[in-house]
Amino acid sequence: MIVEAAIARVATCEAERFRAANPRAFAHHAAATGWFQSVPFHWMRDWPSPVPIVAAAAKGATRTSIDGQTYDDFCLGDTASLFGHSPPALAAALAQQASEGLSYMLPTERGVALSQRLAAMFGLPLWQVTTTASEANRAVIRWCRGISGRAKILTFNGAYHGAVDDAFVDLKDAAPVMRASLIGQVHDLRDTTTVIEFNDEAALAAALHARDIACVLAEPVMTNVGMVCDAPGYLTTLRQLCDETGTLLVFDETHSVSSGYGGHGVAHGPTPDLMVVGKSIGGGVPCAVYGFSAGVAARMAALNQSRPPGHSGIGTTLSANALAITAMDAMLSDVITPTAYDHMLRGAARLVAGLAAEIAAAGLDWHVTQVGARVEFLTCPTPPRNGGEAKAAMHPELEAAIHLFLANRGILLAPFHNMMLVSPVTGDDQIDRLVGGFADCTKALKE
Ligand code: PMP
Repeated sequence: MIVEAAIARVATCEAERFRAANPRAFAHHAAATGWFQSVPFHWMRDWPSPVPIVAAAAKGATRTSIDGQTYDDFCLGDTASLFGHSPPALAAALAQQASEGLSYMLPTERGVALSQRLAAMFGLPLWQVTTTASEANRAVIRWCRGISGRAKILTFNGAYHGAVDDAFVDLKDAAPVMRASLIGQVHDLRDTTTVIEFNDEAALAAALHARDIACVLAEPVMTNVGMVCDAPGYLTTLRQLCDETGTLLVFDETHSVSSGYGGHGVAHGPTPDLMVVGKSIGGGVPCAVYGFSAGVAARMAALNQSRPPGHSGIGTTLSANALAITAMDAMLSDVITPTAYDHMLRGAARLVAGLAAEIAAAGLDWHVTQVGARVEFLTCPTPPRNGGEAKAAMHPELEAAIHLFLANRGILLAPFHNMMLVSPVTGDDQIDRLVGGFADCTKALKE
């Protein structure tokens, strides 16, 4: 049992420790007045430290700061660098492309090989490129509405699919509400977004049998509200209900690509009609892809032909630029390999075992969840079955205290809930240091 007073004591003590060890970060923060909220992008304030750590460089699974600290990096750019920072094959390919032009608004020869690699890895035949996963999800929603002629989409309570307004509807006391944090949206998204709890087959059947939903947009395993795994058989039922009701099934595998080679759909089934992968696919270069079946492609082509030429609302000038294509091709040919996944999954299993043993030793009613190379400890006794349960189990102050304690000992978790990623270049020594730091932290919280 951890009491609130202990959390507050650890948080205060760790903030002081951070202040003493990071004078340059504070000086940087004070000088950065030209940025709104002193950072070039406001999410950078979401870390639990009093001011953000200022990155100096990163290589493999290690990051350094301008204060001379070295970190075991389990955040890995919140998945963008899931396969390690600057893998040598990617760095070399980017250096060459940088001297040959970066963006032409024309296809490059390398793109043909890339489309074949995507199809081979993810099992869908046709692909398009965007600049971010958010943009890929927006494009997919637009295509699904366009080809189905249906206005609504269905998402799950607590889901996050990027800057995709349509997915910002939650359940509160079983009623749909617009997410309170959303800025500047003037339309009532509840008119066109149906939201239900994950793993609720009855709610899913009821929603889809109305036959007015264009697509279900789902992470096959929820990863943005803590982690919520699919109950046995749930994804099969989801696939069947989509088929029965003419609803398109979209898997957003941006995070669940950690599950195994090919993502969750390939590793565990079922196959979606469309899928999205962003972040790590370009190794940190901004790009993402969406893939789809031949049947969906035929419907997309027919829709395209039925429209006059002009802006489709899909894509931007920088989509599929030469740098992005080169980055993804280098990643898929040399870095994102079955061997890389073997290492990641072995490392993640070591981390899970270590954390579970320390939780047991400390007598805490917490648990650890694993989605392939993605591991998370949740400060509640049993795995939540849906987003509502997961949200109720969260303890932001406790999480912040743990994160800062670990950061002060050279270990970085992702700033969002307790997410940890194991890359192909994460060493056992790094995993053991994380487990040791976690054990020290639970002791400090119990003192
Ligand atoms: N899909 C999922 C499942 C995500 O977790 C995220 C980001 N956390 C996104 C899409 C959006 O990615 P990006 O911010 O790179 O557009």
